[in-house]
Amino acid sequence: MESSSLAFLQRLLDTISPSGYEDEAARVIKEEAGRFADEVSVDVHGNVHVVVNRGAGPRVMLAGHMDEIGLQITHIDDDGFLRFTAIGGWDPQILQGQRVWIRTAAGRITGVVGKKAIHLLKEDARKKVVQIEDMWIDIGAAGREDAVARGVAVGDCAVIAQGFQMLGPDLAVARGMDNRCGAWVVIEAARLAARMGARAEIHAVATVQEEIGLRGAVTSAYRVQPVAAVAVDVTHATDYPGMKDERDRRGRIALGRGPVVARGPNINPRLFDLIMTAAGEAGVSVQVEAEPRGTGTDANAIQLARGGVAAGLISVPNRYMHTPVEVVSLADLEACAVLLAETLRRIDESTSFVPW
Ligand SMILES: [Zn+2]
Repeated sequence: MESSSLAFLQRLLDTISPSGYEDEAARVIKEEAGRFADEVSVDVHGNVHVVVNRGAGPRVMLAGHMDEIGLQITHIDDDGFLRFTAIGGWDPQILQGQRVWIRTAAGRITGVVGKKAIHLLKEDARKKVVQIEDMWIDIGAAGREDAVARGVAVGDCAVIAQGFQMLGPDLAVARGMDNRCGAWVVIEAARLAARMGARAEIHAVATVQEEIGLRGAVTSAYRVQPVAAVAVDVTHATDYPGMKDERDRRGRIALGRGPVVARGPNINPRLFDLIMTAAGEAGVSVQVEAEPRGTGTDANAIQLARGGVAAGLISVPNRYMHTPVEVVSLADLEACAVLLAETLRRIDESTSFVPW
């Protein structure tokens, strides 16, 4: 991966961007896209629209959601402990004993999710998973007033205090790879497609609020009104211990084996064929995933926008989704961007997405 692309990825992953609080990620995307795009704008919902080839051929949208799952402060108690709730789908087993960063008006402050010591737990409590409503964040405050003086306010967001790190030469770990790496892919793909001389009018959109119901995709697809769109998200790799059943059902989805191309009712068959042709001709190895219903991704909302949009879905294989240690392959990320650009390069006025 080029060092400038890797630096962009790291900057994006270093932001704190839970659903509804995507401004830090948006700033990084605007800055990066400003170097090559014809237009960069933010809509009233917070989606960042990056346009390449304004006024050219058919309008094609790329969507990568830039929100991550996170936490939200709901209450500051008299002793200065912070109670919180989930933004997005959390496994409560992850949270206790972790350091967190809270984004406050006074900046990023560190706290810890406390836990009663094992010695003090009764036999049955040791086997139970503590629920989020019974947890608290300790910022070392002397009391409520002290916590407020440090800048904490009800409604502030928080994330687990984990950042980007390489695991060997190709695999990278970070919190919220889901789906800042998808947002990275769509911006990179727009840049590559422009360089390759693509003729489509490309709208690469870093969408908001996917984790709480595809909300940014709904509004941005309506605004862009594309003929075709490809969403880029992460998908579950099945190449680690405990995934044998998943492997038997869904096949082997492995890190480093290339982009995962979805096929099924959520996916326009002509667009699927075009993606597969682009992969074959460009020599990008891909994995195919069967999706028998609306997927849980932006592709679902986009397909149903206005009178219907030809939707596609390319996914980055991801281990340990919705944990602070999501692992992806950098080679897969690059291959996703190349595959998208190669697909865009094959779309012009003569391309029809009417399936039959
Ligand atoms: Zn997710």
